[in-house]
Amino acid sequence: MAAAESDRDPPSALCSEFLNFSARDTATRWLEAADLKHEVYRHLAVYVPRILCLGPTPGGGGAGSSREEQREELACQLLLLAPLEWFLLGEEPSTGLALLQEKNQPSPLCGHVFKVGEPTYSCRECAADPTCVLCMQCFLGSVHREHRYRMTTSGGGGFCDCGDAEAWNKGPYCHNHTPTANTRDSEADPTALLPADMVARGYSIFSIILKYAVDLLTWDQEDQVPAGLEPPERGDTYYCMLFNDEVHTYEQVIYTLQKAVSCSQKEAVSFATTVDRDGRKSVRFGDFQFCEQAKSVIVRNTSRQSKPLRVEVMHSSVVAHQCFALKALSWLGQVIQYSDGLRRTLCQVGLQTGPEGENSSLVDQLMLNDSKMWKGARNIYHQLLMNSLLMDLKYKKIFAIQFAKARMLMVEENLMKTIIRTFVDHLRHRDLHGRFQFDRYTAQQAFKFGRVQSLIGDLKYVLISRPSQWNDQLRVKFLEGLDAFLELLKCMQGMDPVVRQVGQHIEMEPEWEAAFTLQMKLTHIITMIQDWCCTDERVLIEAYRKCLSVLSSCHLPEGEQPISLSVAGHTVETFRYQVSQDKVSIHLPLYRLLAGLHVLLSRTEVASRFPEQLPLGELSPPLLIELPLRCLVLCAQVHAGMWRRNGFSLINQIYYYHNVKCRVEMFDKDIIMLQVGASMMDPNHFLMIVLSRFELVHIFSSDCRKRYREANKDVVQQNNTLIEEMLHLIIMVVGERYVSGVGQVEPLEEVRREIIHQLSIRAMAHSELVKALPENGNKETGLERVIDSVASFKKPGVTGRGLYELRPEWTKHFNLYFHHYSRADQSKAEEAQRKTRRQNGEDTALPPPRPPPLCPLFASLVNLLQCDVLLAVEGAVLHWAVEPSGGGWTESMLQRVLHLVGVALLEEQQQLENSSGDDDVTFNYTSKITRPGEAPSTSGSVLALLESLQNAPHLEVHKDMISWILKMVSNIKTMRERSCSTSTVAVSQGQGPEEMVRDKDKAERKRKADMARLRREKIMAQMSEMQKHFINENKELFQQSLEELEASTSAPPERSPPGLEPMCVSQVCVGPRRVGGAEPRQLVTCILCQEEQEVRGHGRAMVLAAFVQRSTVLSKNRRRSLPDPERHDPVFMHPDLSMGVHTASCGHIMHATCWQRYFEAVQLKEQRRQQRLRGHTSYDVENGEFLCPLCECLSNTVIPLLPQTRPPDPSVSHPSLEAWLKLTNQQTAVLRYTHRSQSGGVAEEAEPVVPEGFRVDFAPQNPFSSSVSEMVTAFSVSAYKVGLKVNPNEQDPRVPVVVWSTCAYTIQSIGTHTHTYTHTHLRGRADAVCLSERLLMDEQKPLFGSLPCRQDDCLSSLTRFSSACWTSAPVTTTHTHFVRLFTALHPDASAADAPCVLDMDMFHLLVYTVLSYSSVHTLDQSRWSSVDSAHLHLLHLVTVAHLVQILLTSTTEEVCMDQDGAGSQEEELTCQLYDRLRKHLSSVLPEVTSGWQLYRRVKVGILPFLRSAALFFHYLNSTAPPADLLVAGPGQWEALCSYLSLPSNLLQLHQSQHTQLEPLIQRWCCHPGVRRSLQGGGAVVQFPRESNRLIDLPEDYSVLINQASSFTCPRSGGDKARAPTLCLVCGSLLCSQSYCCQTEVEGEDVGACTAHTFTCGAGLGLFLRVRESQVLFVAGKTKGCFYPPPYLDDYGETDQGLKRGNPLHLCAERYRKIERLWHQHGIAEVIGHAQEANQTLVAIDWQHL
Ligand SMILES: [Zn+2]
Ligand SMILES: [Zn+2]
Ligand SMILES: [Zn+2]
Ligand SMILES: [Zn+2]
Ligand SMILES: [Zn+2]
Ligand SMILES: [Zn+2]
Ligand SMILES: [Zn+2]
Repeated sequence: MAAAESDRDPPSALCSEFLNFSARDTATRWLEAADLKHEVYRHLAVYVPRILCLGPTPGGGGAGSSREEQREELACQLLLLAPLEWFLLGEEPSTGLALLQEKNQPSPLCGHVFKVGEPTYSCRECAADPTCVLCMQCFLGSVHREHRYRMTTSGGGGFCDCGDAEAWNKGPYCHNHTPTANTRDSEADPTALLPADMVARGYSIFSIILKYAVDLLTWDQEDQVPAGLEPPERGDTYYCMLFNDEVHTYEQVIYTLQKAVSCSQKEAVSFATTVDRDGRKSVRFGDFQFCEQAKSVIVRNTSRQSKPLRVEVMHSSVVAHQCFALKALSWLGQVIQYSDGLRRTLCQVGLQTGPEGENSSLVDQLMLNDSKMWKGARNIYHQLLMNSLLMDLKYKKIFAIQFAKARMLMVEENLMKTIIRTFVDHLRHRDLHGRFQFDRYTAQQAFKFGRVQSLIGDLKYVLISRPSQWNDQLRVKFLEGLDAFLELLKCMQGMDPVVRQVGQHIEMEPEWEAAFTLQMKLTHIITMIQDWCCTDERVLIEAYRKCLSVLSSCHLPEGEQPISLSVAGHTVETFRYQVSQDKVSIHLPLYRLLAGLHVLLSRTEVASRFPEQLPLGELSPPLLIELPLRCLVLCAQVHAGMWRRNGFSLINQIYYYHNVKCRVEMFDKDIIMLQVGASMMDPNHFLMIVLSRFELVHIFSSDCRKRYREANKDVVQQNNTLIEEMLHLIIMVVGERYVSGVGQVEPLEEVRREIIHQLSIRAMAHSELVKALPENGNKETGLERVIDSVASFKKPGVTGRGLYELRPEWTKHFNLYFHHYSRADQSKAEEAQRKTRRQNGEDTALPPPRPPPLCPLFASLVNLLQCDVLLAVEGAVLHWAVEPSGGGWTESMLQRVLHLVGVALLEEQQQLENSSGDDDVTFNYTSKITRPGEAPSTSGSVLALLESLQNAPHLEVHKDMISWILKMVSNIKTMRERSCSTSTVAVSQGQGPEEMVRDKDKAERKRKADMARLRREKIMAQMSEMQKHFINENKELFQQSLEELEASTSAPPERSPPGLEPMCVSQVCVGPRRVGGAEPRQLVTCILCQEEQEVRGHGRAMVLAAFVQRSTVLSKNRRRSLPDPERHDPVFMHPDLSMGVHTASCGHIMHATCWQRYFEAVQLKEQRRQQRLRGHTSYDVENGEFLCPLCECLSNTVIPLLPQTRPPDPSVSHPSLEAWLKLTNQQTAVLRYTHRSQSGGVAEEAEPVVPEGFRVDFAPQNPFSSSVSEMVTAFSVSAYKVGLKVNPNEQDPRVPVVVWSTCAYTIQSIGTHTHTYTHTHLRGRADAVCLSERLLMDEQKPLFGSLPCRQDDCLSSLTRFSSACWTSAPVTTTHTHFVRLFTALHPDASAADAPCVLDMDMFHLLVYTVLSYSSVHTLDQSRWSSVDSAHLHLLHLVTVAHLVQILLTSTTEEVCMDQDGAGSQEEELTCQLYDRLRKHLSSVLPEVTSGWQLYRRVKVGILPFLRSAALFFHYLNSTAPPADLLVAGPGQWEALCSYLSLPSNLLQLHQSQHTQLEPLIQRWCCHPGVRRSLQGGGAVVQFPRESNRLIDLPEDYSVLINQASSFTCPRSGGDKARAPTLCLVCGSLLCSQSYCCQTEVEGEDVGACTAHTFTCGAGLGLFLRVRESQVLFVAGKTKGCFYPPPYLDDYGETDQGLKRGNPLHLCAERYRKIERLWHQHGIAEVIGHAQEANQTLVAIDWQHL
């Protein structure tokens, strides 16, 4: 790029200008200029292109580019911004700004601008609308903290509303923003306090700069700059600028860039990241042609499937000015922070109307061009708006008026109309009738809806706050808006009509989603418009008129032929129409809006107060109900299976029609419309039309026997379903009265009823209830206000969630035919309700609940219940039911009829109860049902039929309900008789002209009586509830204390696990006195073939499924880098345990051969599967993984079962330590010599003395059959492979070491975690006492007896295996290992490379030496000593070494304490030993006066070692543990020591073998490493090692969100991380799931989390995804799963995805559960199970997280 190179020289030339340039002089010149703008522009024209954007900006961000940036920054400040500041301030800028700041009055508004992901808080009680939010700081200092608040994370860009009194109904100020006494009056003009000339200068310079910036940011010419800015000399220098879009993926962009501008993958990633972040990025710099060429490549490469990426070749001067424009905007934002006066000035400049008149201010121009700008530019100007306009109280209001908020706007701007018109314009496609027509719901359509959606958002914003006061102008504007809206609805009316498909299935699913999307989006708007109408009578009346007239202008149901129907002696005229044959549409928004308004007429009583103003006379009820009825019939027919051939699109539409998101303005309103129609019609006519549309007239009009003649069984069944559906519809029309306005109810009663019915299905979580209620962003569901009155809350356990249960007193409100039940809900609820009734010993009838009274406008609805047509239908069904059903009728049909009868009886009963005696109750169902049936059902009265059905054997299920009905009938009769006897007198009184007046009086009286009764009922209900509550509470109290009493009196049952039968003799597990291993035969059963098999070294091999994994759970040093797999020497484990190998097993045993066959089958299956779809599984077969065939537990190898160790041979002698050391020394010397001579390195050294009977060349016989040997090798190799992450190699000398290490590590992890002490560093004596007491005295778990069976099996087979694994390795390797290990313990001159005593984990050393000794022992043919005595000596030696290790490390912090009382023997001996160590190390060790304390520390420090050793020897030698170790309690220490054959005063070990040990101790101490470590050369591990915990999490989740929101990506310079993720192990915050932080691990790019697991958790990780509130488990690169977070809301639920926004708090138990999983190495298994259960998890690219 030669051109670029030469252009990069100017800096030096510019430097001289730096020195000569004077900002002050420039400013002075400007002051004197006649045309200021001209002068300023000339200055910019010269300097901007010379300073900014010269040449390519390298992608990487190396040192060179940052220096370049600094230079640019400096030049900008000195040459461009400084003159502006001088001009503005008239003096040295720093002085001037400081002066300004003194006079500054900080804004009363917080105005904090939210970063992406920052928590925001809104108050559900006090916020004016849900867009009003607080920042965390303000929230914590506000009253809303105690209210019901909602927490969300910001998408970035909003601001805090604290201090804005209009945003909050209560508590607008937080602690910090509360106005104080010396706050200036907010009305005062802040510019008045500034010098007038400065204000004038400010005004002119702000105008120029803001205009400059606006022009350039909205500039759309690539080659030209705005007038006046032309560069003095114009070069052929261009940028190839790439813009982002929503279509192309990251990968596409990266790939294209690599091709187009031939850059590296890394650079391409960096370009793509910047494009994504800033919205554009120059990818090439050079001459025009050079850039044009890149552009064409990019365009060509990205245009195949979609619109090409946007690329522009821009002249460098354009880019330079645009860069400076951004800097200038930032500068403006900074300057106004110094002075509220200047801020006000800038506001004036920004909002001043420009020369083009309305909407031409600079701010207008910015906002109007918002979508044209690139993201980076948008961010900067948004920031400026927020710093200026939104921080100035006066201008905030003006701004709001200009661009949003509510009715002022509506008045002045006619906004509603404008938005809706624009909206309609956007949906251009119409059919012949002007209805919307949508293409297939493609991406493009979605985009279109994206635009439409923002318009809907605007509309919502306009409508969000209902006016409390109307004026004429507002009415006019609103109604104009409504007109436009009605036009919109008209276009939707009848969208997507469907016709029933017969014969063939439809070929292509018709489009339906777009229409429903639109409907869903408009649902809230429709509701809001109704809310507005509700607040003003005149508007309501006018809206009703308008809606009606638009409706009548729609083409009405097309001209079908008129027909006349007659049923039960009634006749009605209607027309022929069949849903099953003609067109029908689900979209009827106009009817539904009218239905909504009609209800409002009733609710507001406008209908009764101004009947003359309403066009009620113009309504034609049959026309009103026609289309909604068709829609409901369509649903019924779909249920009846008549529309099967119409495919899923119709099913989906029906689903959404009823769904909670749509139903309020669809299904619910259709029911209401039927209620409207029915209340205005003759009920018989209404029902006949219904029958006709259901196509059922013929069944009920003519001879009922005709039904049976119908040949086709399908048709009969279809008709049965239709009859059921029709009956259900009638039930709903007369029974659904919970909409305020239809029935006399409060809005909250509707919500309460909804909840009662949800909870009648089953107990539910809060979130489920929320989902069942219609919610929108502006309105709460009302759930909170009723939930506690109808339900009781059950707290969750460690899993699951909190549940609400319906209180029993509310079950009487249960209605089986609740209109929002689906059929499935209904049958579930029915079952649940019957069950509870049976449990309570009640009958199982589910009669209808008492319905609330209807409003006057709907009062005549009840007549449906007693009209002749319905009675005929009821009679017919009951008549059919006399015979057992042969398909001619159904149980549900009967059940519905019984329900309807019940509703009618309840109605009559209520009317009778409410009549004040002299009333003539017109509703007389009981008398009608006693009339004998008319033709065709000549069978007798409904009542007679019911009586005859009561005892019918085939109607057993309905018996209770029929009895209930008959009882009601007789009750009502009694009531009637009673009232008749009193009212006969009244009736006889004259029915003269006063009748009318009297009626009115009566109605009034009745209304009052009703009210009083309602009040009474309410109070009674409250009282009874309070009582019940009290009783319930006390019940629990009693129960609780009773249980406690029981618990305290009955002793816990004696525990004696069968396998661990304690013995009376003292149990010793190690050394010649050990017991155990005597069990004769061990029988196991293979889970695959079910055969029993004895475990024998020479038998068929039996194996245990096992899972080996690397682990860092015990690590005390997470900074240690992972060992190099090839060179790592595992013979000595460092005490920081930074990485170990863990083995777990589910405990399931198989024949080796059975397992092999199984595994081969798995492999084969996997191969076939991969060929088919290259799918993933939850296990990686290539890595040897499989699932246990019985329990599906993740496994990757098998452990062979080996027989127990034989009991010790009593004939063999037990040499003293001295003798044994001497012998072993000789043996190791011989071995060392032999090995060296074999490897050719023979020195001149003398051949050592060979002890008697020691045969170096002895080849022991393999004790195992080939089948067992093979398995021994198999496990060894897989442990080696996983543990070291290397390729399998049987010959590697490290194989046995890894096996020993996994044995040691697994035991150690149990020894460490069985006691869950919480433990801080030993800081002083108090801590030490406390800790030691806790450890020694009240350990929570005993050492033995608490392990689960499978772990027990795993450890015993692992340990036995480890002791024998040397048999499959070359003998010399094990010898070599033993020699090295022994030398570390017993150093001599030849062992220079042995590690120092501080660098070895003593338990690992013990296990390795013990296990490797066996191979050396076989060489000793003298049979002089036993293996057991060697084990005991090794244990003693290692224990002493550990004592020394503890003493050396425990006193690095100086503690001086007075000794209380005389020292015990233990303390004295401890001091003696410590003094010896000090002698060897002199000054390095501090002096300690308190032997007591020292001894305590030793005891505490060595305990984990002793526990682990006891476990080890227990499993090695199969020695039953003593009784004291099976239960927690005192005496543990003594029992442990005696079990291990150690003195309980451990110091005696040292004391008694003083002469043998002293030289050893001296050599340990003299190792140079000891002195180095103790003098601060590296972290010294102290004992006991604390058990690792997961990091502490804050109680309040928002604290975490806040932390994460300020976390920036460590790689991309200050950018906010999109998916901040917290490592729960070490507390690191990571930038997850993002290109910027991908790193290469083992040749693959992986995300930050995966990369982190490799350093922090050896491939396994536990994270918290902060923004999602989700725990993430990752294992390796391919496996992971999500896990519920330990945070719960007050309803006992997690909020994964942070969607609900309830405050979340830490649940300690759940967090502990996660920690336990981690301690027990159970994460991989959890992942395996999760992936098995949910296949979609397998497909996630976990490695990129
Ligand atoms: Zn704030
Ligand atoms: Zn505040
Ligand atoms: Zn509040
Ligand atoms: Zn088998
Ligand atoms: Zn299993
Ligand atoms: Zn970590
Ligand atoms: Zn990053």
